[in-house]
Amino acid sequence: MVDEDIAEAAASAVDADEVLAFARALIAAPSENPGGTEDAAAEVATGILTAIGASPETIRGEEQRPSVVASIGSGVRPSLAWNGHLDVVPVGDLANWRHDPWEGVVEDGRLIGRGSADMKGPVASALAAAAAIGRAGIDLAGTLAFHLAADEEHMGLYGTKVLLDRGLLVQDACIVGEPSDLRVGLAERGGAWIVATAKGAGAHGSTPELGVNAIASMSRFLLRLAEVLPDREHPLVGRPSVNAAVITGGSAPNVVPDSCELLIDRRIIPGETDPAEVLAPFERLAADIRREHPDVDLTFALDAWIEAAEAAPDTAIAEAARRAIVADRGTVAADVGFTGITDARFYINDVRIPTIIMGPGSLTVAHTANEWVLVDDLVAAARIYARIFVGFLGARAR
Ligand SMILES: [Zn+2]
Repeated sequence: MVDEDIAEAAASAVDADEVLAFARALIAAPSENPGGTEDAAAEVATGILTAIGASPETIRGEEQRPSVVASIGSGVRPSLAWNGHLDVVPVGDLANWRHDPWEGVVEDGRLIGRGSADMKGPVASALAAAAAIGRAGIDLAGTLAFHLAADEEHMGLYGTKVLLDRGLLVQDACIVGEPSDLRVGLAERGGAWIVATAKGAGAHGSTPELGVNAIASMSRFLLRLAEVLPDREHPLVGRPSVNAAVITGGSAPNVVPDSCELLIDRRIIPGETDPAEVLAPFERLAADIRREHPDVDLTFALDAWIEAAEAAPDTAIAEAARRAIVADRGTVAADVGFTGITDARFYINDVRIPTIIMGPGSLTVAHTANEWVLVDDLVAAARIYARIFVGFLGARAR
């Protein structure tokens, strides 16, 4: 068989019922982050990988959170990593869900549940693609490495970062299967967490004129926060953003607060690489406020900095993905960028592996109540992944 026929055979071997069964089994294993561990989901993934003939291994960092890695294929290059995370964001108030978020109810063609789109559904698609390749009697010429990681939703430090530190991110290319509506994602924003502190002067609450109210000072700043954003834009991820996330201040009803703290989430775009440059407009805004209100005393500190990431558009993996999408759907949409932070940054920024972010489902429903994904999209993703695995790694029929 020629390569095109092998890819076709792999895609045809995808079993829609199996894709759904994998997704529902993963969803039924709660792995809320923060608040839980991925152990149950890792066990389900391990079971599936074992059943399709791989020898999965659980990798735990100091925090003991489990990531599952497994190789399929020849053991030689070319090699391709497929990364997906096993944790999910908390379900929140159950009253907002129409169905049990762990049940994986299918309604009108939609699989509903926490992680259905972000991203146990995509993990199921990738596993089902590997299962289909085996079932079709196809041997991969190269090696497919699954990196099913813990802790993506809380910065990935106990998941993919552990795999990075253990020297496991060594493949020739990588797919991070975050929901992209099956478009090729090539960039993502990063983030700067900035703590703003307003210092005031305490006084008795009955004589506020004798003190300086730190909450009032912070309010003047907070209402002008959008002014810290630079006028710049990236073709795939758009503009930077800023969000006042957590505020604390004051001690008692009858005391003028002498301190107020604001945690600010400033999202950065590719090209914004200098923390000092991001912080400078905060200082300028504070100085501007001080001209009118000399009592306002604001300082800023950088609490965390996560680099944005941008992958090249013309790599072999991006081309293989576009070919697979065209083969399945007849057409391929324009490349996209991610407004959020994903584990792709470890592959792109830390080890410089050609990477795409591509999976079924939409980020707009991720992290919401009644999160859903079209079952048809999960199945299409499995077919497309099967084509990419065969196309990128090479294969022969047994
Ligand atoms: Zn995700």
